[in-house]
Amino acid sequence: MTRIFCNEVVTRDGFQMEPEFVPTDAKVALIDALSECGYAKIEVTSFTSARAIPMLRDAEEVMGRIRRVPGVEYAVLVPNLRGAERALESRADELNLVMSASESHNQVNLSMSRAQSFIALSEVVRVVAGRTAINVSISTAFGCPMEGDVPAEDVLGLAERFAGMGVRGITVCDTTGMAHPSQVGALCEAMQRRLPASMQLTLHFHNTRGMGLANVLAAVQSGVVRLDGSLGGLGGCPYAPGASGNIASEDAIHMLQAMGHDTGVELERLLAVASGLPAIVGHGVPSQVSKAGPIWRLHPAASQATS
Ligand code: ZN
Repeated sequence: MTRIFCNEVVTRDGFQMEPEFVPTDAKVALIDALSECGYAKIEVTSFTSARAIPMLRDAEEVMGRIRRVPGVEYAVLVPNLRGAERALESRADELNLVMSASESHNQVNLSMSRAQSFIALSEVVRVVAGRTAINVSISTAFGCPMEGDVPAEDVLGLAERFAGMGVRGITVCDTTGMAHPSQVGALCEAMQRRLPASMQLTLHFHNTRGMGLANVLAAVQSGVVRLDGSLGGLGGCPYAPGASGNIASEDAIHMLQAMGHDTGVELERLLAVASGLPAIVGHGVPSQVSKAGPIWRLHPAASQATS
């Protein structure tokens, strides 16, 4: 039985594409409920500009109001130095920096070349180092909606350069759901071979083409023990045409628990939280176990006859 560390991203990646603003009270209540479920980490929000992502304009207030449970890390996404300063003020346990492995996606998503992003993030790492943990997310690591294939060497090279600066973790992101299991297995094995053993390697999948859970399985079988997921399967990327849906946390956790892995998450409690999600966002959500229930929840052999 492998211990898997689960990172919940619903209030950041999950919410940022939602058309209707989720009130701050609802965000805080949701994060507080998730904090009781056994996650290793929760990515709470993003310290980006309110103009870029209006949904997350209440980042300071949310970080200030959540109840922090010992043992859970509260991470925030940070696009630049200004965001990093705000994140430090909010006492984030981890700053998650982001850039793309593909040039086109980086230009569209961050309005910079990869080289410019790398320099900007290096500066953030230099300023923040020693004050809080740093993770770097590499977007479009398995394919770019504009360029197609992204060479694994580009992802590996970026990860190695950030590892050389002393960041604690790297998240390899399939931002638009282009990864397939063979590719995931190969890249995960190469990453683990090339990066220092102390590096926390996390995989981040989207289920855009229905390959999400197959990719989770491939990652775990290659030795990866850290996974991102979004409750309900909410999420997407505003700059990736057609992209929708992170893998649903409850579906991935259910699968891993059914296989005998220890995720640390109390699934029944998580499903109770998931049941409230449609009311929060005002529409149904794509996750499946939240509807069907786990395989160990049995049903009475009641007659189907009607009177
Ligand atoms: Zn994502």
